[in-house]
Amino acid sequence: MPTPILQTDTGPLMHKAVEEAARLLRAGEIVALPTETVYGLAADALNPQAVAKVFEAKERPSFDPLIVHLPSKKMLDEVAEVPASIQLIVQKLTEKMWPGPLTLVLPKKSCVPDIVTAGLPTVAVRVSKNAVFRRVAESLGRPIAAPSANRFGSISPTSAGAVVAELDDRIPLIVDGGACLCGLESTIIKVEPGSPKPIITILRPGPITPEDLKLYGKVKHLTRSVVDEATEAPGQLASHYAPRTPLRLLSKPSDFTPIPGKKYALLSYRGDSSDGYTQLTDWVHVQILSPGKGKLPEAAVRFFYVLRELDKLGVDEIIAEPMHEHGMGIAMMDKLRRASVKQVA
Ligand code: AMP
Ligand code: MG
Repeated sequence: MPTPILQTDTGPLMHKAVEEAARLLRAGEIVALPTETVYGLAADALNPQAVAKVFEAKERPSFDPLIVHLPSKKMLDEVAEVPASIQLIVQKLTEKMWPGPLTLVLPKKSCVPDIVTAGLPTVAVRVSKNAVFRRVAESLGRPIAAPSANRFGSISPTSAGAVVAELDDRIPLIVDGGACLCGLESTIIKVEPGSPKPIITILRPGPITPEDLKLYGKVKHLTRSVVDEATEAPGQLASHYAPRTPLRLLSKPSDFTPIPGKKYALLSYRGDSSDGYTQLTDWVHVQILSPGKGKLPEAAVRFFYVLRELDKLGVDEIIAEPMHEHGMGIAMMDKLRRASVKQVA
């Protein structure tokens, strides 16, 4: 049976959708909900049987921990232990950034089931800004575990339609909250004491940029060694976020020589011929992330949608232009590199 979709465009529709989602979550079921980053597949985080259904529907390996979304900042102490040495910076960050797309990894409290954290002693937490998600979380009154609502390793969904493409038949409800406002998964950080400033390590780049974070501490990026990634940010696999079609990220136009007879599509940053990519071959299709201007937040909103559209074309290869590697461009380039690794892995 196709999964029912509830709309939220009017007050009464929103009320009905929120109540139905909260009812299912209370009953130990899973529900796809919009967040400001991407659509999440939600379960009561304190109910291990419910969380197991998330892993099953997504075909997610059990070593990949989930992010826990709190109904409000006040609930942080219920799921996480904030060490005294970082209390001040955690307080500042959560005051300024929550609700929003920033996830903190902190020592977990025992009420958080091991299945949520993949057995780690830490838990990843945030508070979503999305109005629909917040209302569901408030109605449930409990933390919600919600990874992206896609099959494991596939492209994150930024619309209800994309959730249908990924999980139709597998889940009891999708709540349609329209397109996601950020379009990229949350920035994940861990915080350690440091002198003169605390140290903020970015475990996954996202909408909250190093520039935003440097007001609070010394910002470090997780080195890209596979060993570090496996231990510090499990689930950040090299082949994550990838379309099924092979994808190649270029550094410059001259990196690309078309092979006669092969079909190519272009993932263009600005669609501007002066960048030197649009005229490289007779592309089957060109998708532009930020038409004309190269605005990174606009590119971020369209990023997963564009990848999904390119993946439907049945071309031999998707060729991606590089984009500015600052602000949200850091997260998008990280994802393109990971997608690009897949074909040689
Ligand atoms: P998502 O699939 O967007 O829900 O993101 C989940 C990702 O958060 C995982 O793949 C991990 O990379 C990261 N994560 C979750 N919990 C932890 C944790 N306790 N420590 C480090 N990273 C975590
Ligand atoms: Mg995901």
